[in-house]
Amino acid sequence: METPAAVVQQMKVNLLGMSRKNMEVYLTSIGEKPFRAQQILKWIHHSGIDNFDEMTNLGKPLRAKLQELAEVRPPNVVKQLDSIDGTRKWAVEVGGNNLVETVLIPDGQRGTLCVSSQVGCSLDCSFCATGKQGFMRDLTASEIIGQVWLAIKSYGGFEAGSKRIVTNVVMMGMGEPLLNFDSVVEAMSLMLDDFGYGLSKRRVTLSTSGVVPMLDKLGDVSTVSLAISLHAPNDALRSELVPINKKYPIAELLAACQRYLDKQEDTHRVVTIEYTLIAGVNDGLEHAKELAEVLRDLPCKINLIPFNPFSLSNYVRPSKNAINRFWLVLTEAGYVTTVRTPRGDDIDAACGQLAGQVQDRTKRSERHRQRAELEQAIRLV
Ligand code: SAH
Ligand code: SF4
Repeated sequence: METPAAVVQQMKVNLLGMSRKNMEVYLTSIGEKPFRAQQILKWIHHSGIDNFDEMTNLGKPLRAKLQELAEVRPPNVVKQLDSIDGTRKWAVEVGGNNLVETVLIPDGQRGTLCVSSQVGCSLDCSFCATGKQGFMRDLTASEIIGQVWLAIKSYGGFEAGSKRIVTNVVMMGMGEPLLNFDSVVEAMSLMLDDFGYGLSKRRVTLSTSGVVPMLDKLGDVSTVSLAISLHAPNDALRSELVPINKKYPIAELLAACQRYLDKQEDTHRVVTIEYTLIAGVNDGLEHAKELAEVLRDLPCKINLIPFNPFSLSNYVRPSKNAINRFWLVLTEAGYVTTVRTPRGDDIDAACGQLAGQVQDRTKRSERHRQRAELEQAIRLV
């Protein structure tokens, strides 16, 4: 019986997300020379080619073999939105009615791409739209690196002589990257590889809410920059905001950050501490002072993120004055402290607003919606 075309397609290996090492192993396994990996990688990631026929230095028999066994399948973009501030957001279809979101934030010569790692997130931080969606599944390495590929493609950035579209990547989209370890590490190795996107380790940042054992594992295999979602200076408050803190409290998390830095060859590296400021929750002067104290021994800089509102949340962004006061305490305590400007607010593309569309397996989104409706009804009474 003949196998239907769609099934053949599904059985093909997607080369888009394959690291150089894995592609060399794959090529050897199909009887080809491993050096071909470099040529194929350059076609895919330098020239944006997703069709073996156009890979003209491969020779016809190899192209025909690849055609039969493999594919270069980028994710399918279903929606593109442009903000008035130049931020662009894509909704990418990842099967089963699920969408994840990717955001490019242009800033002068710099283009920062915010990449998603999971469909939803299981960790349910109290201030995050993705967390309210529940969790569906991990993205594959192809779906992760595919977000970089499609962003460059979208701006014609693979054309000869065009300017660099993506200069920085932050794993700060939907999902907790350390809970999708293998695929995230494979995709990040393509971001760093000269035959991939050739970004320096300082320009690729993984942001985590603090999955301590995975952070230790990351230090063994990766050199990317680290951002830690701290958001509170003590365990009582942090456990309310970032529930995974109950499992891996602040002291353990900060010790793991130090171990990560110790594993890096380059001794001048620092961790970025992310702190989302929420009015009346974690934005008091006492919190700023406690934060300055708790971070005393860690080489770090601090990035304050004014809370970005979304429909299922009752939190409020602090006033400019409150943000400045918080900033001043940390700056006077000697920390390099920046305040992240919200970008792409008008298209729901700012930090924590990415929700995509998640066919939630955990039914969490339904619970959150019911609770929000109930709270709204109580306010109206
Ligand atoms: N899961 C990872 C990466 C994704 S979130 C993590 O938690 O680190 C990227 C950053 O945006 C994190 O620091 C996160 O805490 C922050 N964030 C989430 N929701 C936010 C919101 N509504 N407003 C501002 N920042 C938010
Ligand atoms: Fe998940 Fe990060 Fe959102 Fe927390 S802040 S729910 S870890 S995506």
